[in-house]
Amino acid sequence: MEMTRRAVLASTALAAAPLGVTALAQTTPAPQNAQSRQAPGFYRYKVGDIEVTAIQDGFARRPLEGFVRNAELAQVQQAMQEAFLPADALAITFTTLVLQRNGRLTLIDTGNGDSGAPTSGLWMSNFRAAGFDPAQVDTIVISHFHGDHINGLRLKDGTAVFPKAEILVPATEWDFWMDDVRMNQAPDAMKGGFQGVRRVFGPIAKDVKRYEADKEILPGLTSIAAPGHTPGHTSYMLSSGAGRLMIMSDVTNHPALFVRNPDWSAIFDMDADQARATRRRMLDIAATERAQVAFYHAPFPATGHIAKDGNGFRFVPVQWNSAV
Ligand SMILES: [Zn+2]
Repeated sequence: MEMTRRAVLASTALAAAPLGVTALAQTTPAPQNAQSRQAPGFYRYKVGDIEVTAIQDGFARRPLEGFVRNAELAQVQQAMQEAFLPADALAITFTTLVLQRNGRLTLIDTGNGDSGAPTSGLWMSNFRAAGFDPAQVDTIVISHFHGDHINGLRLKDGTAVFPKAEILVPATEWDFWMDDVRMNQAPDAMKGGFQGVRRVFGPIAKDVKRYEADKEILPGLTSIAAPGHTPGHTSYMLSSGAGRLMIMSDVTNHPALFVRNPDWSAIFDMDADQARATRRRMLDIAATERAQVAFYHAPFPATGHIAKDGNGFRFVPVQWNSAV
C-alpha cells in the first residue's frame, strides 16, 4: 500500500502540476484583486417558518500566546493541530444573524462596523449582497456589549447605520456598562470597553429597550441568561413550529478550542468560573437535545450541532445546502 501511495503522489507531482499550472497561467485572465476574494459571505437556513441568514464580517487574527488563560501554549497549539488549524495564530471570525418572518427583519448583533481589524468590516457588503437594506431593519437584538457585537450600530463618524430599528439590549448588560462609578473604578485596560459602549449607545440611550433574561423578547425568540463572558451576556432559543435553534452568542469562542475543552478560559471571559459553568450547561443542553446551534465565533456559516466527546464536546458543522 505504501509503495502505491508513494507512486500516486509522485506521479501527481510530476505529471499534473506542471501541466495544470502552465495551462492555468496561460488561459486565465487576471482581473485585479478578484482572485483573492470569496463569494459574498451569507448563508440562509430555516428554523420552522423563520428564515435565518448568517452574515459574515471577516476575521481578526489573534496570537495564540496568552489567549487561553488556564492552559499551556503547547496544549493550545496541540488543540489547533488536531483541528488542522495553524499553530501560531487564531483567525477569529464574526457571524451575525438576520431573522425574517412575516415581513419583519430582526438582527442579532451587528459585527464590527468600521471599528474592527482591517480583515473585518465585510458585514455591510455581505448584508447587501444577501438582498437586505439597513433601512429595512425593524429590530436589533444585542447579546452583549463587546465591540465586535455592537460597533456595527454606529460608524466611527457617528452615523447611525439602522435608522428605523428598535434596539433591544440585556438589562443586566446595560446596568453594568452604563454605570459611571464602575467605569471610573475600572482598570485602564477595561476603560476603552466602557467608552466604546457610550460611543454607540450614548446618543440613543433613551430609546434603547432593555430586556430581561428568560423571557420571550420577540415572537419565537427567548432570551437565556448566559453570564460569565460578560455580566449580562445572553444566548437565545429561537423556536418556530418544530424548528429550534440555540443561538449561543459567545458561550464559546472558537469551537476547536472551547467546545473541545469547555473548561478553558479565553482572555475575553470577564468571569472565567461563571463562563465555564455557563458553557458546560449550555453545551450539555445542546448535546442532550440534539438542538441545532449557532455560535458568533464558529467557522462560517457558524451553525451545526454539539456532540459529547470524552470530557468535552465536539462541534459538527451543518452540511452546506444549496436550497433554503
Ligand atoms: Zn464576540
